[in-house]
Amino acid sequence: MSTIADNLSSVSARIGAAAQAAGREPSSVNLLAVSKTKPAQAIREAHAAGQHHFGENYLQEALAKQAELTDLDVTWHFIGPIQSNKTKAIAEHFAWVHSVDRLKIAQRLSEQRPPHLPPLNICLQVNISGEASKAGCEPQDLAALASAVAALPRLRLRGLMAIPEPSTEATEQNATFARVTALRDGLSLGLDTLSMGMSDDLEAAIAQGATWVRIGTALFGARDYSTPNAPV
Ligand SMILES: *Cc1c(COP(=O)(O)O)cnc(C)c1O
Repeated sequence: MSTIADNLSSVSARIGAAAQAAGREPSSVNLLAVSKTKPAQAIREAHAAGQHHFGENYLQEALAKQAELTDLDVTWHFIGPIQSNKTKAIAEHFAWVHSVDRLKIAQRLSEQRPPHLPPLNICLQVNISGEASKAGCEPQDLAALASAVAALPRLRLRGLMAIPEPSTEATEQNATFARVTALRDGLSLGLDTLSMGMSDDLEAAIAQGATWVRIGTALFGARDYSTPNAPV
């Protein structure tokens, strides 16, 4: 059985190879370790192997792990769906939020970001595959949302995040990620961030300009949602 440290080196090697193939500096691609459903101990192991950025989807679960890991220098990213009543805790306990898809949530995060902390880094999630049920701002609404969010005082708009419909076709993966990149560039806001690519499609995402890949399964193994206290 491979350890988290082994998985981390395999994923780093994949990132490095994909960056090189795309003519990019490997250091231009950041690894976000997605630790949802995994215990604090798994984060501790990844941290000991050199990983500092962790992404969580469920607020209560994330806060519990943060409380267990106060001795580590971890940068926390919130990447899950956001309900209005969760914005205060998210604004207080995270450095990045990748999943903002409406102005009301952004306004609350800005108002609730504590004054002693730097502005909260924000990615706007875009519904890139046009899935009716999917979270994310519709592409045609993105420009208006982006300019409104860019004007909020306690947020720093960094870029876009997307979760494409899963595809095993590299051609299709590339085409979808290229649309995200084009949307970001079309905003002309000087945004430096593209949060896209997961365990199964990180190569295509990096080929199309990803600056953060969000990796769960390839680092921590398959997630088990069947245990009684696993979040849903
Ligand atoms: C779970 C999750 C990931 C990680 O997906 P893997 O396929 O396990 O690498 C990435 N991004 C988001 C938003 C997620 O919810």
